[in-house]
Amino acid sequence: MLALRLHGPRDARLDEIPEPAVRPGTVKVRVTCAGICGSDLSLYDTAPVPVDWPHPLIGEVGPHVLGHEISGYVAEVGEGVEGILVDALVAIQPNLDDGECPACLRGEPNLCEQGGFLGVNGGGGGFAEYVVAPAAKVFLMPPEIGPETAALIEPLSVALHAVRRSGIAAGQTALIIGGGPIGLGLLLCLRAHGVDRVIVSEVSASRRALAESFGADVIDPRSLDPVAHARKVTGGRGVDASFDAAGVGTATFAPAVEALRKGGTTVAVAMYHEAVDLDPGMLMVTEKTCTGSLAYTSDDFRAVIDAITEGRIDPTRLVTRRISLDEVLDKGIELLRGEGRDTEVKILVTR
Ligand SMILES: [Zn+2]
Repeated sequence: MLALRLHGPRDARLDEIPEPAVRPGTVKVRVTCAGICGSDLSLYDTAPVPVDWPHPLIGEVGPHVLGHEISGYVAEVGEGVEGILVDALVAIQPNLDDGECPACLRGEPNLCEQGGFLGVNGGGGGFAEYVVAPAAKVFLMPPEIGPETAALIEPLSVALHAVRRSGIAAGQTALIIGGGPIGLGLLLCLRAHGVDRVIVSEVSASRRALAESFGADVIDPRSLDPVAHARKVTGGRGVDASFDAAGVGTATFAPAVEALRKGGTTVAVAMYHEAVDLDPGMLMVTEKTCTGSLAYTSDDFRAVIDAITEGRIDPTRLVTRRISLDEVLDKGIELLRGEGRDTEVKILVTR
């Protein structure tokens, strides 16, 4: 089968590789849609996972298949798997955990000491014709959810987990720095959570237009200071929670922290391009919280599926382009690294 594998920095190739074989406790899925994520662009740029390092939970050396936002139809079911039938539409939760380390036993499997991701650390990925995943990470889709929306459950779960990390409550106010797929996902999750006042700071006009149509108060940070605007709309107090979904560095993190009210929380939910300066004395006198959000748990996945099924989240307009697997480099990854940054939100590889 054809698969996009990462051989090194800026060296991803469409290789012909054997189809993965189903094993006991796993499910083989014929991939229908796979989203291109900002983290795929970072992986492509820097190839941080050594090709000769076998992940402890997966045990394969690279080059690994990319793509971790995956939906598809069940092709084969492994021994011992119950309740998942061939031809069912499913979404795959790609983060793997050992289920037995202190983090897993605390109920934080996304922080598993041996955590890894399909589509990053081996075990196959979404930019291929087939992928095999543990049955516990395979979610059956209800009739309300089609294959394109099913591939959006992963990025929306990233957003929902970050919203939960912020501790924000219905009726409070939020600032999102960056209106890409995660920023817009945060907006959809916050609105579904009863947070009506959400400011989105984004430089791309098309992404701002989409955020506005989702009910945000949008600003272009080049013409309006997000901190000043956040203070203005909150009577000088600052927002209850903020999210840096851009990850540029101090340029995006500092305004997220500065726009907070005393005691507010900012969540880093991006791959950062550089380190940031932070003054602990400021944290002391304001009791602001700066935290991060890593991926999601199965509970986040289920909550997103429920929210879409019940119509509280409608993510369909996040998809701005559909391409085929043989176009994934030119019309997908390379486009998003260039001009597509301003014009696209989510590009799906479909078949
Ligand atoms: Zn663990």
